[in-house]
Amino acid sequence: MYDAIVIGAGGMGSATAYHLAKSGADVLVLEQFQRGHTLGSSHGETRIIRFFYDKPFYTELMKTAYAEWRDLESVSKKSLLFITGSVGIGAKGNPYGRAARRSLDAAGVESEWWDATQLTERFPQFRVSNEMDILYQKDTGFLRAAECVSTHLQLAEQHGATIREETPVTNIDWQTDVPTVRTENDSFQGRKVILTAGAWAGTLLAELNLPLTVTKQQVCYYQPADSKRFQPDRFPVFTESTPDGEFIYGIPAFGSFNAGGGLKIARHGRGQIISPDTLKRTPDADYIAHIDAYVQERLPELGKTTHAEVCLYTETPDEDFIIDAHPHCSDVLIAAGFSGHGFKFCALVGRIMSELTQNGETDFDIYPFRIDRKHEISSGIPRLQS
Ligand SMILES: Cc1cc2nc3c(=O)[nH]c(=O)nc-3n(C[C@H](O)[C@H](O)[C@H](O)COP(=O)(O)OP(=O)(O)OC[C@H]3O[C@@H](n4cnc5c(N)ncnc54)[C@H](O)[C@@H]3O)c2cc1C
Repeated sequence: MYDAIVIGAGGMGSATAYHLAKSGADVLVLEQFQRGHTLGSSHGETRIIRFFYDKPFYTELMKTAYAEWRDLESVSKKSLLFITGSVGIGAKGNPYGRAARRSLDAAGVESEWWDATQLTERFPQFRVSNEMDILYQKDTGFLRAAECVSTHLQLAEQHGATIREETPVTNIDWQTDVPTVRTENDSFQGRKVILTAGAWAGTLLAELNLPLTVTKQQVCYYQPADSKRFQPDRFPVFTESTPDGEFIYGIPAFGSFNAGGGLKIARHGRGQIISPDTLKRTPDADYIAHIDAYVQERLPELGKTTHAEVCLYTETPDEDFIIDAHPHCSDVLIAAGFSGHGFKFCALVGRIMSELTQNGETDFDIYPFRIDRKHEISSGIPRLQS
């Protein structure tokens, strides 16, 4: 019998295990693959961390999320969060930029509108027309994603958590007095069970018919000839909402342009609906050509993609997370549907899941993430559901 069983040792599960174990709970983590695997959503070198969001509640939550990451750095004595500043590029008056600025203003987070000249004076790597609005935000940066996950797991273990790798959960029996988690060979009881299973969450709680769609995502890496111009001290995180409804983002290279690294550029929010168990994890040539064409226009010094990788989004229709108790069993908690923008929240979600596990409540505003909300299709970033 454990105080808490965490299913899934990715971004959310590792943080949840850490916060629970730190507060004295007896924690078991069950992970279907090896820790640090590349088949889910949290692998790779970097993820963007930012305050700007079209929905103000995310900006508000990010204040604590940043503090939690800094706290993790100080406890682990590792550098995990790098600030680069960001430029958000869009057509003049674009709705996403306006909404993001309103959220920043409401939360008291500084930002500036730039024109094309200001952008190219500060970051001459970009080619933009005068018809662009640019939102500069100095606190944006990136997290070392894989390192964050392994750090949370290491610290959870130091606080006594047990992590079982290559142990797929086959069933959660919540109708018993105490929830029982079954694997192929064993069963475990936990006073609370926390489901942080990413792209597999919907399958494990099939009876709930959670509104989750898993999509194939791809990222391209660039290794320009003059690599110094694209390091984090000289190049920012950037995002762009294009007039034809795309949302492109880029993250400067972390460290040297070694194997597996480079400056990362990808398209957010459009991906083929897939099953995580049958997906062929090879990048598509037409996707790479599309990103290369964008780069040719916006950042021509980058040249062509050197390599690409595949990742998964688990999306809700409104792109808001699901953080709630199972509707028929308050001892089973769910954190899922992070819709391609959850990593920056992992450290905070871990704390929230720990509070919900131990106190049944949290002071953070998780109302937007309740399971029984009416899911509106997001009006933020247009998506293609095929
Ligand atoms: C290409 C890409 C770029 C992204 N960029 C950003 C970004 O810049 N900023 C940002 O904030 N977010 C970003 N995200 C989103 C972010 O990475 C995800 O929201 C986050 O990693 C989701 O974490 P998770 O723990 O829910 O899922 P995962 O990390 O996939 O973890 C789920 C874990 O559960 C395990 N599991 C599943 N089923 C079982 C089972 N039955 N038994 C045992 N274990 C099981 C899985 O093996 C996995 O390890 C990006 C995502 C992708 C794919």
